[in-house]
Amino acid sequence: MTRYRPTIVEVDLEAVRHNVRRLKPPEAELMAVVKADAYGHGDVPVARAALEAGATWLGVALVEEGVALREAGIDAPILVLSEFPSGSEKEALAADLTPTLYTDHGLAALAEAARSTGRTARVHVKLDTGMHRVGLWPPETAPAFCRAVVDAGLELEGLWTHFASSESDEATTMLQLERLLRAAEAVRAQGTPPRLLHAANSGATILYPRTHLDLVRPGAAVYGLAAGPGLDAGLRPAMTLRSEVTLAKRLSAGERLSYGHRYELGRDAWIATVPVGYEDGYPRLLSNRAEVLIRGRRHPVAGIVTMDQLLVDCGDDEVATGDEVVLIGRQGDERITPEELAERIGTIGYELATAISERVPREYRG
Ligand SMILES: *Cc1c(COP(=O)(O)O)cnc(C)c1O
Repeated sequence: MTRYRPTIVEVDLEAVRHNVRRLKPPEAELMAVVKADAYGHGDVPVARAALEAGATWLGVALVEEGVALREAGIDAPILVLSEFPSGSEKEALAADLTPTLYTDHGLAALAEAARSTGRTARVHVKLDTGMHRVGLWPPETAPAFCRAVVDAGLELEGLWTHFASSESDEATTMLQLERLLRAAEAVRAQGTPPRLLHAANSGATILYPRTHLDLVRPGAAVYGLAAGPGLDAGLRPAMTLRSEVTLAKRLSAGERLSYGHRYELGRDAWIATVPVGYEDGYPRLLSNRAEVLIRGRRHPVAGIVTMDQLLVDCGDDEVATGDEVVLIGRQGDERITPEELAERIGTIGYELATAISERVPREYRG
């Protein structure tokens, strides 16, 4: 369908490649985590770019995400980061997705699916070392569980964990790492050695080489998103959210803008209408809080962000229909990051990036 609205997310695949090359340790493999449509960037193009740049694995949250990558013709190993949901095991194995395991029930269901389909399942056992979201707890139960995996006729390929606060808490991260290493040692000692030990998300990949082990699993950093303060140094942001001014007008001091008239002009001003709203995933909470870039300068979002459009107070800077508007990304010397917007509404850049809705077309360069 012809696209009439000028609002797009532009994804720079060369930035993705650059980030992957920068993040990949010389001695370890890199799994690009492309869950949630590659954090809103588009999973198939991003996965391809990451693989071109040296990633050897992909990580997804859902079986559905993994199947979609396979249907797009991607044949790299894909780890599903939680256990296959009950009932999905056969389809997941048929799509050659790599299972994560951490419950007896999941193990039994996977073994049964592997038997009935005649497929080899190369399992990655996930340990809970302190995040307490998913994983085998306590980690001391790892040897018995890994033994059961092997006894069930499955192949033990990986043993891994996930850090709770690698971007901000070294002591906790090292404690979690020690728990993984101790469990791995016990699993090895009983004669069921996993080939791949892995733990590092973006924060740990950047901050702690000790956590790199056999494979690192960055998500945010692949997209140039900061996993924590300063953790985007040397990375290139891949996402730009851009639009155009669709209407510009000069209004007098005292005029009030948008729903509820929550913004009053203290002086005469140029006001731009921009076709981006909360349905596009630009949060309504950013009303009267965010800035956007027009003609290389920052201007405030004025009044309530509506479902499909928002208003910008450009003051004395004349603006015109067709002017480019950058809501996330760079224009001239100015840059607005997802982290900046996130901070204004008490969340993180990850949420901002993944919130940009499917209504906004993704365009790729590089
Ligand atoms: C999302 C996720 C990652 C990537 O985390 P980032 O902070 O984006 O690097 C790695 N591992 C697991 C298990 C995840 O859920």
